[in-house]
Order: sequence, then C-alpha cells, then structure tokens
Amino acid sequence: MADTKPVNLMDKIVALCKRRGFVFQSSEIYGGINGFWDYGPMGAELKRNVRDAWWNDTVRRRTDVVGIDGTIITHPKVWEASGHVTSFSDPMVDCKKCKGRWRADQLPETKCPEGGPHDYTEARQFNLMFESHAGPVKDDSNKVYLRPETAQVIFVQFQNVLSVSRQKIPFGIAQIGKAFRNEINPRNFTFRSREFEQMELEFFIKPGTDADWHQKWVAERLKWYETIGLPKEKLSIYEYKKEELAHYASACVDVMFAFPFGVQELEGIAARGNFDLSQHEKFSGKSMMYFDDETKEKYIPHVVEPSAGVDRICLALICAAYTEEEIAPGDTRIVMKFAPRIAPVKVAVFPLLRNKPPLVEKARQVFDLLQPHFTTEWDDRGNIGKRYRYQDEQGTPWCVTVDFDTLGEKGPELLDTVTLRDRDTMKQDRVKIADLVSLISQKLRS
Ligand code: ATP
Repeated sequence: MADTKPVNLMDKIVALCKRRGFVFQSSEIYGGINGFWDYGPMGAELKRNVRDAWWNDTVRRRTDVVGIDGTIITHPKVWEASGHVTSFSDPMVDCKKCKGRWRADQLPETKCPEGGPHDYTEARQFNLMFESHAGPVKDDSNKVYLRPETAQVIFVQFQNVLSVSRQKIPFGIAQIGKAFRNEINPRNFTFRSREFEQMELEFFIKPGTDADWHQKWVAERLKWYETIGLPKEKLSIYEYKKEELAHYASACVDVMFAFPFGVQELEGIAARGNFDLSQHEKFSGKSMMYFDDETKEKYIPHVVEPSAGVDRICLALICAAYTEEEIAPGDTRIVMKFAPRIAPVKVAVFPLLRNKPPLVEKARQVFDLLQPHFTTEWDDRGNIGKRYRYQDEQGTPWCVTVDFDTLGEKGPELLDTVTLRDRDTMKQDRVKIADLVSLISQKLRS
C-alpha cells in the first residue's frame, strides 16, 4: 500500500469520484450549490445496488416486513404530531464580524478572516425543515414541509398497511426515499447534505419486547454492513447513555464507520416505544390500537427503528474501496475494491484491437451474451493496459478480453476461449466463452 495520509485521502477520493463519474457537485456549471450532490453514471449504479441490497435483505427475503413508497410532502399536521415543527432544530450562531454562520456545536477552528477570534452571537434555534406551499397561494394556511425523514410517512399509514398486508405483530414496514434537512453546515463531501436518501424500517412489536428486538436488529444491521463489503474493523457501535436518549426512547445505538475524516454515524437504531403512533392518534383522532385476535390483547404497538442513510453508506463504500497499490517503482494503480455485489459494473468486455473486425465482432457476441445477466460495459479505446486501469478505478471486478487466440489463430484448442481478468489479483485465466455466464454468476454469489 502506498502512503495515503488521512489529510489528503479525502481530496483524492473526491477527485476520483468526479473523474470516474461517481459524484458531481450539483449545478456545477453555475458554481454549485452547497449541500447538494448529483450521482454520475457509476454513482447511480452504486446507489441503486445499495438500495437493492437493503430492500432485498430487509423486505423481500423476510416474511415479516412489507414495503411502502410514500410522498415527500405530507399533511403539515404530520410534522406537528411528530414534534419536528417545534423541536427539529439545531443551535446556530453567527460571527458579528465576518457574518459567518455555524452550528453552535461545530464551531470552526480557524480565526476570523476580519482578524482575531470570531465574535459569536448567542446561540438560537434554527429549524431544519425546508418549507414550501401547496397550491397557488403562498401563506401560512397552505404551508407544507419537505419531509426531514421518511419514518413518519410509515407511521401515518400504519393502519392501512396492517389492514391490507395480513401481517401480525411483530412485523415491519420499510421505505426508501428522499429526505431534506436545511443543515446549517453541510460538510465532509456527501456525508452531511441538505438533500439525501434514507432507508428506514419501523418494526412494530408488543410492548415489553423492546430490549430483545432492539438487540436483534442491532446484530442484524451490523452483519448486513459486512455483506455489502464494509470491513468489520472499520465498523463499530455507539450506545447512547440514558441521559442522551429522547424521553420516549428506551435504547439507541448508532452504527459507526471509520471515515478518513473520523468515526461517524451511518445508521441509528432506536427503540422508540409507542411515541410516534400515540402522537398521531392524538393529533388525528384516529385509533392506532392493535388487536391481537389470538391473545385478545389490545395495545398501541411499540417500535424499533433502524434508520440508515444511502448517501453515507455509498460514501463509506467508496472510502473503504479506495486503494492505491504500487505495482512497479513509480507506477501506482488506483483500484476501487468494491464487493462484487455492489460494484457499479460487474464485467467489462474488450476486443484486443478495435481495428480488427473479426475481433470486434466476436467481442460483440460475448458482450451480447453477458449483458442480459450482468451490468456489462464495452470498451475498445486505447490499449488494453489503459482499459484495465480505467476499469480498476471504477471497481469493475472482471474484464473479458477477446484476442487472436479466441479466433483460433494459435490452434483449435483455444478457439472460443477468452481471458477473464480479476481486478484484485490482476490474474488472467483462459476460460471458455460458453462457461462465462455460470462462472461469473458463481463468483458473484461467493
Ligand atoms: P447526524 O447526527 O449525523 O445529524 P442524525 O442522528 O440526525 O444524524 P437520523 O435522524 O438518525 O440522523 O437519520 C438517520 C440516518 O439518516 C443517519 O444515520 C444518516 O445516515 C442519514 N442522514 C441524516 N442526516 C443526513 C444528512 N444531512 N446527510 C446525509 N445523510 C443523513
């Protein structure tokens, strides 16, 4: 491993993200907008793979979780009931000299550009919800909020989902979608953005089983991060102390990841009692009771909430995958060592030379064979070495090259064979075209 000092490692990662189309600054041609990011071709695939992995593992492969897909804008009462209108705020201060603005708990270490130390105002609360208006009139009567979390949309549909899904407590409702927070200081690349995506599960349980289910979900979620390729040694948990918990919560654990800029939260897993359902019952006047027809018990369910951020997970995956390898003196290879399951492109197909029609034609046949099964990329630019390096930088686990041997020029025994090159070992195996689909499928599963 070459020297990758934490100070400049993030700069290198940000540069690679732009160079290889993972993440671009939003509206870059207009100078960008603070706290907003666009995902390029590779980033969009990576993000989709993360969402799919979560959805498949949390919803489709379980019998006790169902999904919903709710709106970003809801009735504004939702956010009064949840407490967001009154208390979803961060303390903010200004510097009276330079007019800079910060979260009171994240003050800058730098001096004031006007000279000397910053001269801060008293801290005041700043609500993080973005506001808009539904309909043509812009007044308080039609003020709405862009959801600051997806969770509340689940709670307000609890009874509808219960009545259509034939689920019984314990069961969960999951959702993936955008959330918006007008963060005072967006920072650390995509880590703290103003528009981001969450993957949330509300797992409804019988009161009194909270501690058990909370522990189960913490274990389950930690394991999941390893299945998408985050190294165990970079993952940890932070357990909230009693005095740090919200008044209604009985436990909360954050799943943490060692980013180059520090150990930070990827996901929060909270045992929230029946706070949310009770609040919605109070504000809507609609019952949130559950009736257990076996035991004849009636209660408002409690909930355990694993709540993860897609963008933070993508950033963790990118940081963990980034590797510099000195393969010869003065020759450093940059490789994104994504787990094949979440790698944006699974396989790239090359004709050895682009100006030899028989090679190109054969390579096209191989591409057409693989494309229905895997995210496959075609590349015939530059020389083969450059193509490998390009694919390494976007983390493609396998490259297939069609050469003259494939055409049988060195003898019939190599006819219809190709080289299959492994991203991490750089080893090339000669394999039959007919075996490619099953071989790559097998590798993907292992
Ligand atoms: P933080 O303390 O970092 O502000 P939080 O505890 O407020 O996060 P939650 O409300 O628990 O975050 O949201 C659940 C998840 O949503 C977080 O673990 C994170 O992955 C993601 N998330 C929250 N805020 C942001 C943000 N501004 N940008 C990107 N992801 C976010």
